[in-house]
Amino acid sequence: RATRGGEEVRGYAPSMGQIFLRRFQMVTQFRQALEDGQVSVHYQPKVSLPGKHVLGVEALVRWQHPEFGKVDPDEFVPAVEAAGLVGALTSFVLEKALDRVRRWLDEGLRISVAVNLSVRNLADADFPAKVADALERFGVPAELLTFELTESGVMADPQRALPILRELHSLGIVLAVDDFGTGYSSLAYLRQLPVDQVKIDKSFVLGMGTDLGDLAVVRSIVELGHSLGLTVVAEGVEEDVARDQLEAMGCDVAQGYLISRPLSEERLEAWLQARTAR
Ligand code: C2E
Ligand code: CA
Ligand code: CA
Ligand code: CA
Repeated sequence: RATRGGEEVRGYAPSMGQIFLRRFQMVTQFRQALEDGQVSVHYQPKVSLPGKHVLGVEALVRWQHPEFGKVDPDEFVPAVEAAGLVGALTSFVLEKALDRVRRWLDEGLRISVAVNLSVRNLADADFPAKVADALERFGVPAELLTFELTESGVMADPQRALPILRELHSLGIVLAVDDFGTGYSSLAYLRQLPVDQVKIDKSFVLGMGTDLGDLAVVRSIVELGHSLGLTVVAEGVEEDVARDQLEAMGCDVAQGYLISRPLSEERLEAWLQARTAR
């Protein structure tokens, strides 16, 4: 075991070199990992308030790495983005997601799916055409697809992102601003974006039970969203009290561990069946 300043360094505190190496390996192995089935998509349900009707699911990517084990998307997505490989990631997730929706449609279920976009997708002028092609191939109506994008992703290069967003929107795809409240959050700017939904960042929703400031932020986002005619979604709903408060404020949709954690496709099927059987 290594010692530092006389104190024992326990467990796996990685050095900068190890972090760099791991990141480098992840980036170089990513494409192969997609082909080898190490990467999968989990789905987290979104329910209406107050009805608790399942409106849709959010697709969240998972990587089971042979050496590192489960790698968190917060770690590998930024690395994949920086390496210019996010186009492959988004296509992979989109195809899985549309295939899932297609099979639900075949069973008579209308459940929408939300896919997270990266800033790099919004710099690819061919992206809307690729998406239109995928929708057609799977025979999924555009309104059953939502794209979640962060404000910072749009703000990085609005000149480039805006025409792409408009094109996606004109296809009939639902657009949501993710992590709302954390970025620039310019209200004037929100009005100019072709968006349908705002997702209140989970940090405010998690804090609203104990922090009056967070509660005020949540309340004002609900009001602002509604005054702009947007659907308001809260993520990070972990407690009954939070759900009840959100419902009382008029928030439209809830997502979080209280309803369900992100689930593998198989477990999601079981979850959906258990709900409709009740
Ligand atoms: P996000 O888009 O903000 O996704 C929500 C994150 O919150 C997910 O983490 C989800 O598991 C977690 N979460 C959901 N409900 C709760 C709750 O009640 N409490 C708490 N504490 N957390 C909750 P996850 O799956 O680790 O994803 C992290 C981030 O990675 C996502 O944040 C998103 O920015 C990115 N990401 C995930 N999948 C993709 C993808 O396919 N493409 C891209 N570009 N980014 C992705
Ligand atoms: Ca998201
Ligand atoms: Ca979010
Ligand atoms: Ca996030």
